[in-house]
Amino acid sequence: IQLNKESLYQLSEVANEYFQQQLWDEEEGKTLALSYFREREIRDEIIKQFQLGYSPKSRSAFTTYALEKGYKREALEKSGLGIFKEDSEIGYDRFRERVIFPIHSFSGRVLGFGGRVLQNHGKTAKYLNSPESEIYHKSQTLYGLFQAKTHIIKEDNCYLVEGYMDVITLYQNGIKNVVASSGTSLTTDQIRLIKRLTPNITILYDGDPAGIKASFRGIDMILEQEMNVRVLLFPQGEDPDSFARKHTTEEIELYFKQNIKDFINFKTDVLLEETQGDPIKKASLIRDIVGSIALITNLIQQEIYIKECSRLLDISEQVLFSELAQISQPKE
Ligand code: ATP
Ligand code: MN
Ligand code: MN
Ligand code: MN
Repeated sequence: IQLNKESLYQLSEVANEYFQQQLWDEEEGKTLALSYFREREIRDEIIKQFQLGYSPKSRSAFTTYALEKGYKREALEKSGLGIFKEDSEIGYDRFRERVIFPIHSFSGRVLGFGGRVLQNHGKTAKYLNSPESEIYHKSQTLYGLFQAKTHIIKEDNCYLVEGYMDVITLYQNGIKNVVASSGTSLTTDQIRLIKRLTPNITILYDGDPAGIKASFRGIDMILEQEMNVRVLLFPQGEDPDSFARKHTTEEIELYFKQNIKDFINFKTDVLLEETQGDPIKKASLIRDIVGSIALITNLIQQEIYIKECSRLLDISEQVLFSELAQISQPKE
């Protein structure tokens, strides 16, 4: 039998049902995984909506189940759900003793999975993902997009977070227009998926140096797609999930309202903090910000941002425009 995409979709769907059944109906799942989600204060209705699941401890529970159902070793290997040692009939489950986050396509088909360990003891990677396959292309997928798409259109904005739990916790708190790049650094394909629904993105990355750095990269990539980008910085050490869990929905909304900045304000604030009045550093800061403005193709918007930048940095518009002209010169 030829292995086609359709059989990979089918196997993923079977696995998705299996993992959910393990979570809700089996003792091990209920004790270890359902209680894990409840400790993280995720409501049952949200667990169901996101189709969260559990893959048990047993070395080959799912692989055996799928083989018995007639799925081929090749399909299990290609989907990454089963791992077979050479010359061995016995396959091992990729996701063992992990809570499961299914990753859906835009139209809701299961493409792959993310699995999280129940406890962080640092021995194995905290998250494990399905490998690339004919149906799962990590760089072209956004976690949560299936659940968020109508809300993104309605709000005409998309919140972009780092992780699975960030999506789920915000969604549960009524902020439903949210997707995650899930660990991969943001790609142009992912931005284009959002662009089909809205020209507006608000980056909500973790409040740590890695998150800030990723925000800077994201800003330029989003501007290159002729979209509008805002940023919300969380307090040091917080991510959207940990922040939302410590505050009421009203407090979250207020924090968002008071702290979302357009990209110029965000970059200026972050960079000014680093310069500490050093004029050489300030000059490179200005080039950095003007570099982002240079990516904007709309001339009116460019001018608005130059004016804002001039005001924030106390540099004349004239100097900024000439810097912009230099940067914008087509490269050879
Ligand atoms: P949690 O709140 O469950 O502890 P997190 O989402 O805050 O996890 P981060 O370390 O901030 O974890 O990572 C953000 C995202 O990056 C994760 O949700 C996951 O999608 C991805 N990720 C993290 N670590 C790994 C890993 N070792 N392998 C693959 N992807 C990972
Ligand atoms: Mn992080
Ligand atoms: Mn995080
Ligand atoms: Mn987290």
